[in-house]
Amino acid sequence: MTTGNTPTTPDAPYDVVICGGSVAGCTAAILYARAGARVALIERHKKPDAYKVLCNHYIQPSALPIMEELGLLPLLDEAGAPKTLSVAWWTRWGWIRPESEHGSSPLPYGYNVRRETLDPMLRKIAMETPGVDTMLGATVTGVVRENGRIVGVRVRRAGVEEREIRAALVVGADGRNSSVAKFAELAEKSVKNNRFSFFAYYRGDVLPKSDVSYIWFGKDMAYANPTDDGLTAIACAPGKSHLPAFRDDLESAYTKYIGRLPNGPDLAKGERVSKIIGTTDYPLITRESAGPGVALVGDAGLCSDPIWGIGVGWAFQSATWLVEATKDTLTAGADEVDRGLSAYRRTRRARLRAQQFLISDYATGRPMNAIERQLFAAATRDEVTARHLHTYASRLIGVGEFLAPKVIARAGVVNLRHRLRGDIGRSAAGRVW
Ligand SMILES: Cc1cc2nc3c(=O)[nH]c(=O)nc-3n(C[C@H](O)[C@H](O)[C@H](O)COP(=O)(O)OP(=O)(O)OC[C@H]3O[C@@H](n4cnc5c(N)ncnc54)[C@H](O)[C@@H]3O)c2cc1C
Repeated sequence: MTTGNTPTTPDAPYDVVICGGSVAGCTAAILYARAGARVALIERHKKPDAYKVLCNHYIQPSALPIMEELGLLPLLDEAGAPKTLSVAWWTRWGWIRPESEHGSSPLPYGYNVRRETLDPMLRKIAMETPGVDTMLGATVTGVVRENGRIVGVRVRRAGVEEREIRAALVVGADGRNSSVAKFAELAEKSVKNNRFSFFAYYRGDVLPKSDVSYIWFGKDMAYANPTDDGLTAIACAPGKSHLPAFRDDLESAYTKYIGRLPNGPDLAKGERVSKIIGTTDYPLITRESAGPGVALVGDAGLCSDPIWGIGVGWAFQSATWLVEATKDTLTAGADEVDRGLSAYRRTRRARLRAQQFLISDYATGRPMNAIERQLFAAATRDEVTARHLHTYASRLIGVGEFLAPKVIARAGVVNLRHRLRGDIGRSAAGRVW
């Protein structure tokens, strides 16, 4: 199926060909076309309402501006997607409950919306954007090279001969197992993840507060997110030592794990309305984000640890950075396009490299280091540190600002005062805010 409002002949070269019509791909398609580019959007799923099942869909506040620009916010509100106005982190020192400063505006918020709702919504906007030709049920099977530069892709659709689609720029938005990255031979670094992940949807009052997103933070992790359609997604991310129990009896291991969380969900108060969905092996992947004539956005370029709920936000954001860096170069020749790609590469590195480094380090399953212990402990005791942690987790500041010496020093003072007051040893589990 090919749809679109531009009368582009099938074999005319495009300005951009985008492989993958999910969050990153649709975002890039919409923004390029709005900037006047002719875009081919290629998606292997046949149905426009296809969606990614393996996702917990917590969207960080850092993605809000681009979601607004795309026109998603009124649609999300209409669909009943809850804003995540309130978060609570359990740590062994107690609950961290970030709140806005008295009298000031609320904390930055994101959304939690099932991909079943989000993906078709976003794809519809892309398909209806003038300048986007969408090819559904079409798989990218190779790239076309000329003089060491990528100038197009090969595409196969069932019952149709394989064809070439040429463009000034090829964008791989085809997810963590990106074929475009492989065909383009972009370098890849993979880091082991020593946690695995399972989640399920519940209907009913399973959480202590139905409008709060919860995270249980430690070596073994869990989280619970109220989402659209009145459902709550409850996820666990245990260390791999738990894997044999989960392999042996998934339902029993998942239920026991969730049941042991301090002040955790009460599964008996709700009904499970989905299978228990998950994955047992999910290494973190970072790829070179661009080469001559080609760029990667979203998971194709950088796929992080699901426990931080950032992949969707970074898919929106990386697509935006690419479009900003290249939209004015597409008709200016290969050298200009590649200059734009270098700018994109620099932006992505500056924005994500240090964050991915910290996340990869924690994905080893190691216990918290001394700085993390200082910060998390202080955040349970001090509202300024709690807000700071929330701002970083929302991906609104970078690692440098997150770990600034004055922040660590403040955390040290907070914890010292706490010790001097003799509050040591208060049970985290017993404190319910
Ligand atoms: C267990 C789990 C929980 C998660 N929870 C969260 C969370 O709470 N919050 C969050 O922000 N992120 C979360 N993520 C990560 C998030 O799902 C991804 O980061 C996000 O989907 C990336 O979007 P994308 O558009 O880059 O890629 P994808 O959504 O993977 O889309 C890739 C698209 O490319 C298409 N495609 C692939 N190959 C081809 C081809 N050869 N030809 C044509 N089309 C192709 C696919 O069909 C698909 O539509 C989670 C991930 C996991 C595994």
